[in-house]
Amino acid sequence: MIAVLKGGTTAAQKENLIKWLSAQGLTVHVSEGEYKTVLGLVGDTSKIDMDLLSGLEIVDQVARISEPFKSANRKFHPDDTVVSACTSKLGGGNFGLIAGPCSVESEEQICTIAAAVKAAGATFLRGGAFKPRTSPYDFQGMGAEGIELLLKAKAATGLPIVTEIMSISHLDLFADVDVIQVGARNMQNFELLKQLGRCDKPILLKRGMSATLKEMLMSAEYIMAGGNEQVILCERGIRSFDPYTRNVLDLAAVPLLKELSHLPVVVDPSHATGAARLVRPMALAAAAAGADGLMIEVHNDPMHALCDGAQSVTPDQFAEIAKAVATVRTAL
Ligand code: PEP
Ligand code: MN
Repeated sequence: MIAVLKGGTTAAQKENLIKWLSAQGLTVHVSEGEYKTVLGLVGDTSKIDMDLLSGLEIVDQVARISEPFKSANRKFHPDDTVVSACTSKLGGGNFGLIAGPCSVESEEQICTIAAAVKAAGATFLRGGAFKPRTSPYDFQGMGAEGIELLLKAKAATGLPIVTEIMSISHLDLFADVDVIQVGARNMQNFELLKQLGRCDKPILLKRGMSATLKEMLMSAEYIMAGGNEQVILCERGIRSFDPYTRNVLDLAAVPLLKELSHLPVVVDPSHATGAARLVRPMALAAAAAGADGLMIEVHNDPMHALCDGAQSVTPDQFAEIAKAVATVRTAL
């Protein structure tokens, strides 16, 4: 349920109302917009007398929210959420460019790529340290050492780092990580989501391979229900029947998610297509669709990448894509 307050409501009046609602066992989320304040009420709202609430002098409107996702709902929080990490911001008009290799492979590799993507305008450095590979015989990532190397690349470039967590038992290793990624394969690992809901770092939540948008928003809700409201949604393609692309990029997800939710939405054209030559057109299309950012895999030597070389663009290609994306955004 939401209660929209009238303009001119004083802080004391607001506080009084929040106290009254909290005393009835509800959790109250306050969203202070430029023109209005929205109180989002979570819990058993069936006991609330809607007529009484809407009759209060300071209340403009009361409505029930039928969707099962509440904190992630745009109705709860009409303004865009802006996620911040170091000096980078994502959402609410701040476009984020997250770039880097699929996996961290060596200090030289990650530092070379970090410097190149930074020069090209990237605002976050990505790199997998713990890799969810289909085969147990494939490179599994450098683990804790990979995170150390990402931190070296961060120290050299100032770029905040984004890296994937696969097990909550590794959380201590992520103490200095700026944004924790939850990969497609873990989108519905609810225990992991609950734990991440209790930490104070932004979470980049990737869409599960066959997850509906509602399921994705419910996963975001798991994180937010624990108190962590810094969630970035990432559309990375869904599995379908055509083997020409690794996945099928659902670009309608971008405007839809932004309509349904206030959380920033980024698109990963690398995992969505699986082909480096398709990254540029899909990155431009994502920007045109209104994405708040892109996640692009970049490798200095794609032919010899230990993971996802076929979909990795070179630093030069990334620089050109970044420019073209900026042109599309200006045209919008
Ligand atoms: C990745 O970002 O390297 C990755 C494994 O992505 P996804 O979870 O989308 O497959
Ligand atoms: Mn990858």
